[in-house]
Amino acid sequence: MKKHIALITGGTGGIGTAICKELASQDIIVVANYFPAEKPQAENWLIEVRNQYPNIFIAAADVTDYDSCHDMLESVKTDVGPIDILVNCAGITRDKTLKSMTPDQWNSVINTNLNSAYNVTQQLIQEMMERGFGRVINISSVNGQKGQFGQANYSAAKAGLHGFTMAVAQECASKGVTVNTVSPGYIETAMTRELPEQVLTSIVNSVPLKRMGTAQEVAYAVAWLAEEKNAYITGANIPVNGGMYMSS
Ligand code: NDP
Repeated sequence: MKKHIALITGGTGGIGTAICKELASQDIIVVANYFPAEKPQAENWLIEVRNQYPNIFIAAADVTDYDSCHDMLESVKTDVGPIDILVNCAGITRDKTLKSMTPDQWNSVINTNLNSAYNVTQQLIQEMMERGFGRVINISSVNGQKGQFGQANYSAAKAGLHGFTMAVAQECASKGVTVNTVSPGYIETAMTRELPEQVLTSIVNSVPLKRMGTAQEVAYAVAWLAEEKNAYITGANIPVNGGMYMSS
C-alpha cells in the first residue's frame, strides 16, 4: 500500500515537532515546513530527528505568503510526492489588550494563524478531492473557543480557523477528504514559556487536570484524525485541554 505523505506547517516548533514524530512513527512520510529565514535551525532540527525518523523531510515557506506556499507545495510534490495529510500548525502570539494593540500586532497574528490556512489548504484541496482521500487538521486553541484577555487578535484568528474548518469540511465531505480542528489548551512549549510564572500558575490552577498538556498529547489527537479508517469525523473541533473548557 502507498505510504501517506503529510505536510505540517510550523513543523519544527514545539507542537509541530511532536506531530511530525508521531506521524513518522506510524510510517507516514512527513514534511515539516519551516520559516525560510530559519533555514540553519531547521537543518539542525532535521539532523536530530533523522536519527530516529529517516522518513522526515523539511520544506521552507512563509505561510503568510500565498506564492511562497505555492512554491513549497510544488517542490514537495516533485521531491516527495502528493500530500495526503495537511496539518496547519504554524502560529504566533502578539498579546496586547485591544486598546493598545497596533495594526501590525493584529495583522501579523491574523496572517500567520488564519490566512495561512487559506494559503496552504486552498492550493491543495482540489487535488486531495480528485484523489478521493485527504485529511486536513487545523490547530486552533482553547482561546479561540472561550476568548482570552489580551488576545483579541489570537482568539479571533483561532475562532476563525474553526469556521474555516466547518465550511471546507462541507465542501469536500463527499470526496473522501475530512477537515477537522484540534484545539489545545495550555501546552508546554516555547510559546507558553514566554508567559510570566504567576500567569502560568493561575492557568494550571484553572485546569481540572491541574497540569499543562504535552505536545505529545496534541500529536496523539492529530494522528488519530489523520488515520485512513477515521473517515466519519469531519467539521469537528477536538479539545485537548485537560477539561479547561467543556462544551456540549
Ligand atoms: P512554536 O512557536 O513552538 O511553533 C510555532 C511554529 O510556527 C514555529 O516553528 C514557527 O517558526 C512557525 N511559524 C511562525 N510563523 C511562521 C510563518 N510565517 N511561516 C512558517 N512558519 C511559521 O509554538 P507551539 O508549538 O506552541 O504552537 C503550535 C501551534 O499550536 C500554534 O498554531 C499555536 O497557536 C497552537 N497552540 C499552542 C498552544 C500552546 O499552549 N503552546 C495552545 C493552543 C494552541 P519560527 O520558530 O521560525 O518562527
